[in-house]
Amino acid sequence: MQNPLFDALLAPHRGSDDPFIMRPDGSSVTYGEFFEAVTRTAGALKSRGLRPGDRLALQVGKSVEALHIYAACLMTGVIFLPLNTAYTADEIAYFLGDAEPGLFICDPDRRSELSRVAGKTGTEFLTLSQTNTGSFADLVADADPIEAAEPRSPNDIAALLYTSGTTGRSKGAMLTQENLLSNAEVLVEEWRIARQDRLLHALPIFHAHGLFVAVNTTLATGASMIFLPAFQIDAILDALPDATTMMGIPTFYTRLLDESRFNAALVRTMRLFVSGSAPLLADTHDRFADRTGHRILERYGMTETGMNVSNPHDGERRAGTVGFPLPGVELRITDPDTGRDMPDGEIGVIEIRGPNVFKGYWGMPEKTREEIRENGFFITGDLACRDAQGYVRIVGRNKDLIITGGYNVYPKEVEMVIDEADWVRESAVVGVPHPDFGEGVVALVVPENGSVPNLQALRERIAGGLAKFKQPKEIILIDDLPRNTMGKVQKNALRDDYAELFMQKRAG
Ligand code: AMP
Repeated sequence: MQNPLFDALLAPHRGSDDPFIMRPDGSSVTYGEFFEAVTRTAGALKSRGLRPGDRLALQVGKSVEALHIYAACLMTGVIFLPLNTAYTADEIAYFLGDAEPGLFICDPDRRSELSRVAGKTGTEFLTLSQTNTGSFADLVADADPIEAAEPRSPNDIAALLYTSGTTGRSKGAMLTQENLLSNAEVLVEEWRIARQDRLLHALPIFHAHGLFVAVNTTLATGASMIFLPAFQIDAILDALPDATTMMGIPTFYTRLLDESRFNAALVRTMRLFVSGSAPLLADTHDRFADRTGHRILERYGMTETGMNVSNPHDGERRAGTVGFPLPGVELRITDPDTGRDMPDGEIGVIEIRGPNVFKGYWGMPEKTREEIRENGFFITGDLACRDAQGYVRIVGRNKDLIITGGYNVYPKEVEMVIDEADWVRESAVVGVPHPDFGEGVVALVVPENGSVPNLQALRERIAGGLAKFKQPKEIILIDDLPRNTMGKVQKNALRDDYAELFMQKRAG
């Protein structure tokens, strides 16, 4: 019997002496060692009575042992549910209640707080620290390895990943064996990932980017990775000369560019830099190319679909775009109201169909029906247009669209004009309640360090470039944009912070 993910990603590595993981302290793990530890971890899961289809929730710091657990879930057919380490006890209570995992593993530091939460939902609870101590580590040390993987079919759920949930309840995306495997295979092909590659891995592993995109493509090819606990600039600069690829969020690249030590000599062995999870500014792309000679390959994806669209490996990587649909992925850009296809060059919602599209939201059949059409297209909620050569350009989330006085304003369009000013580092444009217009356009602008902001000149630039209704009614300077761990600007936080802006003015 088969287990497609196990057969493709794990079984080939049994007994191999090839290097898999290098840690910053110089220690390393071969594929054979990893495989052996996975069989023991799988034994530990079985000893706790976990069966195929049960869920295992994991909220621990990034470690090789956390990867053992992921791989052991694949082997035993247990559905892997990784959780952001930033989640609070209240949030954890929601996930445990919603997913009803058979086991929850968290960091020993949070034992007292989270054991109470797990107690309420009656969830079995064990601990694992980043240095492999805790009750789960003890269980694995005593466990008998298992030999054979549980049979699984392509349509069986392999992982449950909760979306970041910026509006309403966070939803658990059910990702199947086929979703994960097809995506890993297409990325290996498209990005030319091979056994000789050594990936610089500094992303979190509770998210699709660091887990599936980075780890699954490595396992699929027998490549190796330098496994850093987080993005820490000195460790990155040390590791770069030994790496051939890096996957990052845009903040990684801006932070590298802020470093005078970062230069072309340091990336001599690199062949590919990939960016995603949030928009990479065209300016960052260009400055990175000037500094290193490398054009960052920007791609677009989401929890529900894995990777959808990518700039080409060979051929022009166009700054400010995410490229073309991956092979096997169908993309439509549609009118959000009618669902009809939009002509090229016009903005609409991205819809995606393909083997990468998730099976639905856990326990939410109605939400699933709202977002996955009967014909199989998933409505992503991202707004985009396609240029004449077919490159897809994302302009924001549908829910971030501003409607002011009945007119649509796409924040990105305004942000691009603002970002052109020399002294501007970056900006975020949001709509907040306005007594006359429904929503009023507000620009939050972050100046470059040490620059002298010239708001008058900025207003003139905006007036010269944008129709009156798109022009921000307020421009506010701030030190930093609020971002989540994946580098996404938290526009809902900004909308909350400035919700009273126009209402107060009127009252005043
Ligand atoms: P997540 O489910 O956390 O992976 O977030 C997915 C969302 O991130 C997408 O729906 C997009 O809004 C955003 N996103 C991912 N990659 C890009 C990109 N290259 N450019 C702009 N937005 C992106």
